[in-house]
Amino acid sequence: MKTKQVITVIDAIFSAITQHKSDIESLDREIGDGDHYINMRRGTEAIVKMKDELSPLAPAAALNKIGMKLLSTIGGASGPLFASFFLNMSKTLKVNGDSSLLEIAAAFAAGVQAIMQRGKADVGEKTMLDVLVPVSTTFTQMAAKGESTAAICDALCQVATEGLESTRDMIATKGRAAGLGERAVGHLDAGAKSCEVMIHATCDTLKQTS
Ligand code: ADP
Ligand code: MG
Repeated sequence: MKTKQVITVIDAIFSAITQHKSDIESLDREIGDGDHYINMRRGTEAIVKMKDELSPLAPAAALNKIGMKLLSTIGGASGPLFASFFLNMSKTLKVNGDSSLLEIAAAFAAGVQAIMQRGKADVGEKTMLDVLVPVSTTFTQMAAKGESTAAICDALCQVATEGLESTRDMIATKGRAAGLGERAVGHLDAGAKSCEVMIHATCDTLKQTS
């Protein structure tokens, strides 16, 4: 992993989030409070503005700075969750190294684990974890088999979309939609949508640049 790649991915994520404004906004309006797009836009824009500060850093240090920034810029439930993802991914990269896909997969898994601990949530609760957990599992399995970046990227995009779709028929047991019971059924989760958008943007960028 190179910090230059991290910065290219940040640009791609920011532009993908802004392109999906209306989907993300309306999903959180249907079964949340409607602020998820604003939260995501504020966070991603703040990171884009840090590019000059991030570029001289090693990847682990850059991800740590990103996590700290997200903690202070994204509000809502999702801010601390995304922040803990980056802070723990950073910690793991620092300890294990950042040169192989397997090491990056392990750091991604540690980030997802941190979201689960922080939010006291798991798969099946109609949250961002319904995208992130299966993506992380597939990433680790494929990296362990020595699959190529392109093959992993294709698989992760598919798994992310399936994970997003899986939230449609779920009853929410975490987050603001948790009080809605059956009324949340039939709607996708907004946080799962923004994670799907970010996974697609990341994978498309990495496929082109690797
Ligand atoms: P808020 O819910 O405070 O308005 P956002 O709208 O920014 O914050 O984020 C909502 C998203 O956060 C949800 O769609 C869901 O994916 C995710 N989320 C909420 N609570 C949790 C939790 N405990 N664990 C994991 N993800 C959660
Ligand atoms: Mg909200």
